[in-house]
Amino acid sequence: MEDNCIFCKIANGEIPSATVYEDAEFRAILDLGPASKGHTLILPKTHAANLFELPEETARKAILVAKKVGKALVEGLDADGLNVVQNNGAAAGQTVMHFHMHLIPRYDSDGAGVTWTPGNLSDEAKEEILGRVKVD
Ligand code: 5GP
Ligand code: ZN
Repeated sequence: MEDNCIFCKIANGEIPSATVYEDAEFRAILDLGPASKGHTLILPKTHAANLFELPEETARKAILVAKKVGKALVEGLDADGLNVVQNNGAAAGQTVMHFHMHLIPRYDSDGAGVTWTPGNLSDEAKEEILGRVKVD
């Protein structure tokens, strides 16, 4: 746990939360500012600031928790779809610097703003990007 990290305190039960699911390594809680009905956050109980700091084993398990909790949200709330969103860095909209995944149940025509305006991939940009990005 990291001092002064609110999600460490919530994940480990020091601060009460509306808990949808809990196991030894994760807690899933209702978001206090939901984008839609049932908006849930999955928090690992150990601190990692973002995806890049997350241990591989925790990352593997996180997607399984997302699958399990997401299914329960969709079925329990009669949702029509589900967005899984995960922000890294302030530029990407991350406001709490403890890794978390958003599960956002979606309902036909709900108008929840989980979207963007599509741009255009030029040949020049494509070549530049493929030349610069090196995956280990
Ligand atoms: P981020 O923008 O970092 O990806 O998402 C942070 C999310 O945490 C926001 O959707 C915000 O509403 C939610 N949030 C911030 N503080 C609290 C809190 O104390 N309790 C709960 N349940 N949600 C919080
Ligand atoms: Zn933390």
